[in-house]
Amino acid sequence: MRKALQYLFIVLISFQVHAESPGFYTLGTGGVTGVYYPTGGAICRLVNLSRTDHGIRCAVVSTGGTLANLRQIRAGKLELAIVQSDWLYHAYRGTDQFNDRPAVKGLRTLFTLYPEYFTVVARTDAGISSFEQIKGRKVSVGKPGSGQRATLQALITNLGWSFDDFDAMELDPAEQAEALCKGDIDVMIYPVGHPSGATKEVTRDCDSRLIPVTGDFVLKAKKDNPQYQALSIPGGLYQGNPEDVETIGMMATFVTDESLSNDAAYHIVRSVFTQFEQFRRMHPAFLGLKPQDMVRGPFTAPLHPGALRYYKESGLLVAD
Ligand code: GLU
Repeated sequence: MRKALQYLFIVLISFQVHAESPGFYTLGTGGVTGVYYPTGGAICRLVNLSRTDHGIRCAVVSTGGTLANLRQIRAGKLELAIVQSDWLYHAYRGTDQFNDRPAVKGLRTLFTLYPEYFTVVARTDAGISSFEQIKGRKVSVGKPGSGQRATLQALITNLGWSFDDFDAMELDPAEQAEALCKGDIDVMIYPVGHPSGATKEVTRDCDSRLIPVTGDFVLKAKKDNPQYQALSIPGGLYQGNPEDVETIGMMATFVTDESLSNDAAYHIVRSVFTQFEQFRRMHPAFLGLKPQDMVRGPFTAPLHPGALRYYKESGLLVAD
């Protein structure tokens, strides 16, 4: 009993130290087979490696994805997160799925990462070759809180469809590949950077095809939200998919809240950019990253002043 109490005491003390420590930050990502999770891991690793310079400790958590991350930042439950720029746009402006409450004006950008491609994969024997053909099929629409579900919703609204037009299943990103290959779903959807673990898994485990996402409904989405851009998933990245595939996409963006101190923001971005070659090698989706592009904007949510200080000081942004 005494031992148990002693243990509890130690746990309580360490919890209190942890909760009060100004230098402990949690970085929200997505599912473990996505690219956010290893990206968050890479950022935290570099921050923690230079801890002796600044005392900051960074921990990565798997989450439901973009909308869950934005809501948790708003609620003060996460300090850092990676999110899709299309929903960052709505959260900051208080529009679309964020129109129920005041806009999240405290959101701040730290830097932009890589493009995310709205990726639609169908089992080849499902006989689907265009996005319009997914109507009525077994589609994984994603869990509430995922960028997958929100962006799919935004796109199909322009076709006059709703989730009722699918035989819809709400799967986690990590469950989709197996469900597709087993025939539980015909189509999986994932706005994600490439190459991604989930897409690799599904194209390796069964005969499956990336489906193009083009047409007037895509043009309309681009008109409504400047964060959408035409992208092409390079051919040859995945087994059985030698051709480029046209789709729509957005930018994965590393964000925080204005309540993060200037010093913390400064040191977090500095840790990444002073060890950039190491960062770039941490995931194949980072290969094309250029520091100047990552800090240039225009940004939907303004740059955090602490990050801006580092970008000016290092010459990544020219001081005015
Ligand atoms: N873009 C996806 C989402 O916000 C997550 C992608 C990833 O985890 O790499 O739900």
